[in-house]
Amino acid sequence: MVDEYHLVHLSTGDIFRQNIGKKTDLGKKAKEYMDNGKLVPDFITIDMLRKEIKNHSATHGFLFDGFPRTIKQAESLDKLLLNLNQKISMMISIEVSEAELVKRLLKRGEESDRADDQDENIIFNRIAIYKKETEILKSYYENQNKLFSVNGEQSIGNVKEQIFTLINLYKVESKIK
Ligand code: AMP
Repeated sequence: MVDEYHLVHLSTGDIFRQNIGKKTDLGKKAKEYMDNGKLVPDFITIDMLRKEIKNHSATHGFLFDGFPRTIKQAESLDKLLLNLNQKISMMISIEVSEAELVKRLLKRGEESDRADDQDENIIFNRIAIYKKETEILKSYYENQNKLFSVNGEQSIGNVKEQIFTLINLYKVESKIK
C-alpha cells in the first residue's frame, strides 16, 4: 500500500517499540502498558502521533496502522487532520475470527521477540480491550460512510487485491464527486 499509493506508514505500535528499543522517556512510559496488553493512555499516544504527522506534513497521504484505537483518538485525529485541511478517506477493517487471531499472534510470537505475542493471557487481554474500546470505531466510521471490510482469512494475495480494489474504487469515485 505504501509503495502503490505513496503513503507514509504510521504504526503506533512500531513507534512505541522503537522508543522502547532506544530507551526514550516515551518508551519507558509505554512499556508497562504494552507488556500487559493494555492501551497506552490516549494523551501519550495522541501527542506522539501529532508530532509524527507534523514531521511528515509534506506527504501525499498516511496509512495509519493500529491507530485510532479509541473514540477519543479518532476525534483527536479528525481535529488534527482538519487543521491540515486533510481528512480520513477510508477505514479498512480486516476481519479475522478470534481463534485465527490467537493462532496468528502466537505464531508471530514464535518468530519475533514480541513478548505481548508470546503469552496467551496477554493476547486475550488485548482482544478484550479491543472489544471494549476499539470495536466501536467501526460504527464511528460507518456513520461517515468510511468503513470498508475485507475478509482477512483468505490468502495474503487475495486480501491485498481486495484492499487495492477498494482504494482504486474510492479514488475513482472521489474524482467523480
Ligand atoms: P500493535 O503493534 O498495534 O499490536 O500494538 C502493540 C501495543 O502498543 C498495544 O497492545 C498497545 O499497548 C500499544 N499501542 C499501539 N497503538 C496504540 C494506540 N493507538 N493506543 C494505545 N496503545 C497503543
